[in-house]
Amino acid sequence: MKILFLDQSGQIGGAELCLVDIAKPFRDNCLICLFADGPFRKLLEQQKIPVRVLANRSIRVRKQSNLMQGIGSIGVFTPIVAKVAEIAWEYDLIYANTQKALVIGAIASLVARRPLVYHLHDILSAEHFSAANRRLAVTLANRFASLVIANSKATQAAFIEAGGQFDLTEVVYNGFDPAIYQIQTNSLKTKQNIGLEGQFVVGHFSRLSPWKGQHILLEALTRCPDKVTAIFVGDALFGEKRYVEQLHQKVVELGLSKRVQFFGFRGEVAPLMAVCDLIAHTSTAPEPFGRVIVEAMLCGRPVVASAAGGAIELIETGKTGWLVEPGNVEELADAIAICYQHPMLAQIIAQHAQKQARERFHISVMEQKIARLLNLVIDFH
Ligand code: UDP
Repeated sequence: MKILFLDQSGQIGGAELCLVDIAKPFRDNCLICLFADGPFRKLLEQQKIPVRVLANRSIRVRKQSNLMQGIGSIGVFTPIVAKVAEIAWEYDLIYANTQKALVIGAIASLVARRPLVYHLHDILSAEHFSAANRRLAVTLANRFASLVIANSKATQAAFIEAGGQFDLTEVVYNGFDPAIYQIQTNSLKTKQNIGLEGQFVVGHFSRLSPWKGQHILLEALTRCPDKVTAIFVGDALFGEKRYVEQLHQKVVELGLSKRVQFFGFRGEVAPLMAVCDLIAHTSTAPEPFGRVIVEAMLCGRPVVASAAGGAIELIETGKTGWLVEPGNVEELADAIAICYQHPMLAQIIAQHAQKQARERFHISVMEQKIARLLNLVIDFH
């Protein structure tokens, strides 16, 4: 099976990391076309997955763009569509991994007469997308896609709510190689190295963006004992520089300078997860899946997450972690306090979560499901 993958991003987000894992088993028979250059291209090259960057001008349509802004970008879209359609003749299937990839993949699939698969990593709700973008995504998926892979039941439900056809969808959770999250480092020593010896460390691993809610953790910290510190791992990927400035300002205003560290983007998160006593996920809008939640579980670390979207499917509160109301500072501070005061209980819950995550979200589960579904799509085309 020869697959042409499409992804709009040059940056490394959750959808791109998932695509790396999906494309790996096909690396001898696939090509990933990107519509922007950046670190993602380098990561694919390191992984020996064939990659080609098709655009030298970025597509300026954003998740909240309206119809007119969409129409204004046709000049950038058209040459990419033509290139993709030409390349697609050599492949059995087009696999669109992002929304702009769906737009381009849909037209290319029509021209090249190849089946189209859309991997939906987003919640198509008003919190994340403009009405025009939601309508465009479901219309194109309904009309052109043979299969829509939703990364959670929440993502699937939002697709259907927005007008998407239920019978096109299959839910496939992200898969992970547990070996990558097997913590080898001596976490005490690493804690020492980064000046956090004797501290209770709450880790936040995510791109810096208002809806990822880093500010909620800062506020919760003010309600915790001084020994509770926070590390933020991740960077602004999509131009949220203003939010980054606000976060740094907030640290000073709340008197947290000695209790907060920013580490920027890390290629490997597991070594830093290893130093954390708790990992917090604080998204204020529903998370489509929440890779970091599963990664924290695989590292054997207790995790508290916002109870919305895919996160609800990953954690059973009190059994495999804690779920708190999105944006509720007090509830988050209370969950931190439980882990701080009851480390044994937190560890038991973390071990239970680790065991469950190793089975439920094993890379082989995802690989097998994707291979089966893609074979079906090709057989029925
Ligand atoms: N991540 C990373 N380095 C960082 C911060 C985050 O590699 O410095 C990874 C993180 O481990 C996770 C992904 O980025 O695998 C983010 O995926 P998630 O589903 O949590 O959120 P998204 O970015 O897709 O909204």
